[in-house]
Amino acid sequence: KTQSYQQGAEDESISEKLIQEMKAENIESYLRDLTAHPHLAGTAADLSTAQNLSEFWKQQSFSRVSIVPYRVLLSYPDKENPNLVYLLDSNGQTLHRTQKMEKILRPEQNQSDVVPPFHAYSKPGSVTSEKLIYVNYGRVEDFIWLKENKSMNFNNTIVIARYGKIFRGDKVSNAENFGAKGILIYSDPADYAIDGETSVYPDSWWLPGTGVQRGTVYNGEGDPSTVGYPSLESSYRDISDRSEWPLPTISSHPIGYNDAIQFLGNMTGEVAPPEWQGKLSITYRLGPGFNNASWKVQMNISTHDQYRTTYNVFGFIEGSVEPDRYVLIGNHRDAWVFGAADPSSGTAAMMEMSRAFGQMVKQGWRPRRTLIFCSWGAEEYGLIGSWEWVENFVKNLNQRAVAYLNVDIAVQGNYSMRASSTPSLHKIIYESSKKIPNPNPEEVKSDRPTLYDTWVNSFPRKGSQPKLPFINAVGAGSDFTGFLQLVGVSSMDTRYTYNTNEWKVSSYPLYHSVYETFHLMSKLIDRGFQYHLAVSRLWGEIARSLADSLIIPLNVEDYAETIVQLKESLDAGYGQLMRDNGLGEGLSYLEDAVRNFTDVAKDFQKRLSKLDKTSPLAVRAMNDQLMYLERGFIDSAGLPGRKYFKHILFAPSSHNSYAGEAFPGLVDAMFEIEKTSSTEKTERWEEVKKHLSVVTFTIMSATSTLVDHI
Ligand code: GLU
Ligand code: CA
Ligand code: ZN
Ligand code: ZN
Repeated sequence: KTQSYQQGAEDESISEKLIQEMKAENIESYLRDLTAHPHLAGTAADLSTAQNLSEFWKQQSFSRVSIVPYRVLLSYPDKENPNLVYLLDSNGQTLHRTQKMEKILRPEQNQSDVVPPFHAYSKPGSVTSEKLIYVNYGRVEDFIWLKENKSMNFNNTIVIARYGKIFRGDKVSNAENFGAKGILIYSDPADYAIDGETSVYPDSWWLPGTGVQRGTVYNGEGDPSTVGYPSLESSYRDISDRSEWPLPTISSHPIGYNDAIQFLGNMTGEVAPPEWQGKLSITYRLGPGFNNASWKVQMNISTHDQYRTTYNVFGFIEGSVEPDRYVLIGNHRDAWVFGAADPSSGTAAMMEMSRAFGQMVKQGWRPRRTLIFCSWGAEEYGLIGSWEWVENFVKNLNQRAVAYLNVDIAVQGNYSMRASSTPSLHKIIYESSKKIPNPNPEEVKSDRPTLYDTWVNSFPRKGSQPKLPFINAVGAGSDFTGFLQLVGVSSMDTRYTYNTNEWKVSSYPLYHSVYETFHLMSKLIDRGFQYHLAVSRLWGEIARSLADSLIIPLNVEDYAETIVQLKESLDAGYGQLMRDNGLGEGLSYLEDAVRNFTDVAKDFQKRLSKLDKTSPLAVRAMNDQLMYLERGFIDSAGLPGRKYFKHILFAPSSHNSYAGEAFPGLVDAMFEIEKTSSTEKTERWEEVKKHLSVVTFTIMSATSTLVDHI
């Protein structure tokens, strides 16, 4: 019994075997199959890909495989009545009409079930306006600048924004909040064909003028018709009226730059500032409207909401010692079209990793804790499959989930890895990446033999001694969000990326377009699939270590250190302003709480090093404290105004849900204060005071989970 109880502890031989077992050729062949056809959520391919994966996992000797469906509200364009945007003259004659579909540039793209470019959950209908306004990236600051410096009035206008910098859903809600009735979002060559003068896809990976980025413009998470609860058969849905749902109230549509130039190139008004000029060969003007005052832009949007079923697939390798402790590994399966990078590179990587685990199982190995492989449906629509499942099993996960390891896009470039995670996972990510051979032979020649070596060299953390790679705070934008925000499960997300130091763009150029094909991946991004292999290995090694180590490799001192840093940058940014407004006392309470957390974490680590590892109960007790620390940062009331973001230290930024924000409640409040009139300011400061006390208490509360005695 003792033997089986301690089995698996720090078994390095498994680590090496697992890493060696994974093969690039397999990943390539999985990706070829996965990208053979479109696999949009809620279509027949949602189910067939779920069944294929389920069969695959059954062949890997998994303890159990299941498919879990949810009937949810999705959104589709109307095949008979395509989404079109017109430039009309004074007689209503068409001067330009946007393309119905992206132009087919290689034969394999020519398939009947390619969904035309659209914005999921756009409001359907037709809107027309003479007043088109260029709003740059459509950020809050862009709208404010136009309103305050250019006296721009957005009522009844249609705005045109370029993609980039922030989540597209935030652009739409900004347009909505400023009074516009429609929004066009286009990809500018300045952001999506940076070196595109010489060549674009299919000759390079830059976006051609015919390519369009699809995507959701829903700002919530999960099925919009079951907010707060899972979409079960028994669940109540308010289906009387679209306005009951938290969906966009304006029309929204994506276009490529060949179409965009027809609108932008005919605009009137002031010349846009130099930073607003894109790379089309026109002078970008702000508007409102066109050179000819009677010309109009008309959006005919047929996109409509529809109930469909999406499928999550789960594969289990049951833990041999602690089957009721779960290490979850997840990736979404639905793609806008072929999804060679997003998400199928991740699915192919997960398949190979799970096959390698299956081989270990076939040789008689079992992890100490249960591994759960998760394949999510309808992520692209708003994290729907994962969010509904987390809502469904929130109590169970609360008690049993050790960590959630997400990979969405596994490979979007071949420069270096990037990661975001909660602080207690930092160490295990670093340690695991040191075990993974460098996928880039040139880097190996430059004396960087491991994944870690390239990572720390390309994305070092500022000011760290010794040098460490930078790890982002977790935002949203993929399936870890529900685990972190609804439950408080330590979470991470990783991928291999292009050089974001050089190209400061928020996605790879062909993201969510029909050109995101196997050809793109196998010829232009990852010839030989070595980068995919590196991600599979890293992901697998982190999972193995969390599932199999006697002591869960979550690190509480790293959590403390991160909070100290976050507190320091909060102070640097807002400290003075907060003290000037009577929050000095509140800040010193926060400082005490942070210091105390640091002391208690140190003490915890000391106790851990002296732990009697032969005592199952003592080991389990410490492991529980490690696992539950993240839960300590959850406030069931949620962040101010954001009930379903419950993690008090990390949340997606309110202005860009892709980005992670530390102390999100405070940062949001300060953002509001800076643009509030003086009469309302006092009231706002009271709110900041209140939230600051919640932050302080939450840290004290988390601290209390790590002490020896209450
Ligand atoms: N990953 C998807 C996107 O970027 C969904 C993001 C979300 O809904 O948060 O469009
Ligand atoms: Ca729900
Ligand atoms: Zn994705
Ligand atoms: Zn996506």
